[in-house]
Amino acid sequence: MSHLFYQTSQRRPLLDQARGVYMWDVDGKRYLDGSSGAMVCNIGHSNPNVLDAMRRQMEKSTFGYRLHFETEASEQLAARTAALCPEGMNKVFFVSGGSEAVESALKLARQHALAVGQGKRWKIISRTPSYHGCTLGALAITGYAPLTAPFALMMREMPKIPAPRAYLDGLDPTDPATGAHYAAMLEQEIIAQGPDSVLAFVVEPIGGASTGALVPPLGYMQAVQDICRRYGVLLILDEVMTGAGRTGRFLALEHWNLSPDIVVLSKGFAAGYVPLGAIAARDDLVQAVLDGGGFLHGFTYAGNPLACAAGCAVIDEIARLGLVQNAQGMGRALRARLDALMARHPIIGDVRGQGLLLAFEFMADRDTKAPLPSALNAHQRLVDIAYEMGLIVYSRRTRDGVAGDHIMVCPPLIVTEQHLDEITQTLDAALTRLVDDLAL
Ligand code: PLP
Repeated sequence: MSHLFYQTSQRRPLLDQARGVYMWDVDGKRYLDGSSGAMVCNIGHSNPNVLDAMRRQMEKSTFGYRLHFETEASEQLAARTAALCPEGMNKVFFVSGGSEAVESALKLARQHALAVGQGKRWKIISRTPSYHGCTLGALAITGYAPLTAPFALMMREMPKIPAPRAYLDGLDPTDPATGAHYAAMLEQEIIAQGPDSVLAFVVEPIGGASTGALVPPLGYMQAVQDICRRYGVLLILDEVMTGAGRTGRFLALEHWNLSPDIVVLSKGFAAGYVPLGAIAARDDLVQAVLDGGGFLHGFTYAGNPLACAAGCAVIDEIARLGLVQNAQGMGRALRARLDALMARHPIIGDVRGQGLLLAFEFMADRDTKAPLPSALNAHQRLVDIAYEMGLIVYSRRTRDGVAGDHIMVCPPLIVTEQHLDEITQTLDAALTRLVDDLAL
């Protein structure tokens, strides 16, 4: 009997070791990590330079409480992070994961409003579907009813606008009118809420598991940034999943040259070597909060030196191995293979994403975009079949209420063409078996 519990009682094999893109369980079975865990292990498993950097830091110190000490590791990681963010965002605050980072961004935004005499601003607009974390603040801005509904009474519901799912709405994502159409929904919501009450807009620049790698339509991101500016609403980019090279840029915001007020990072930022997250914020925003009495927020493990040393080494490895470029090249190659799978398997209704943040969505009918019947549980069955065949992929059901069942195919950024062949051959076999099993 195991004493552990997670979301379900389903037991998984015991992990023995992991190297590069592969993982082995204690019985010696090998798995290709086709989802980098949960889009975390961007530089692959057991990178020797990161392990060395962690060993060196462990021999110096593993903990220094933030009210007593800074460490070289945290100073260095803050400087490296700021250098990778847009100009004027030189202030970095560390936490231990994505939800903590989102909470920190929300509280920094609120304290900034108070510090500059805009205390009436407290509403955070976000999108449906979206995922921003599992703590109550992050959950209040998460647009996914199955996760949020049980806790509705315990948190303050925040306004949501629809995510720009042009493919479901029958609109052309390359037509600038489509981007303008969805961005206008933000402006309408700000006006409906009362512009003086709106604090921030939080958005995943390219959707993560919530939308299944939704790339915004042309012009959308610049338009929402302009709208935020016009109404004095802070723009918070949740790059927890898109950051650290995943989409073929170090930050996804680079695709559109955005200058947000706060960027939220975790997952690939320390690539699974240690729990780590961060927010980077505009200098003047942080200065106003500090001048206003200080940031009333902070976690015990913030800026942990071991985590920061690992974070520095991960950023160095991303640069040394050219992983941002590899995410572009291998992303294009994987996308072509997924398009070929779609041509062979009518059950796939859409393939989307950018860099190595890629996904495909199941549909009963490509023309009507009708979802598969929920009871089939097709996404989970595919994940289970692929797992049995030695390939790990990640799935989400979002059709309950909002979108379809999709499968994220997001291997570590170190993948080669050979790995891509292995991923797509296994997926091909798994899809064939799924269709047989479901008698579709
Ligand atoms: N934000 C986004 C976009 C995410 O994808 C996630 C996790 O999947 C989170 C926030 C929450 O991160 P964590 O699970 O580390 O708390």
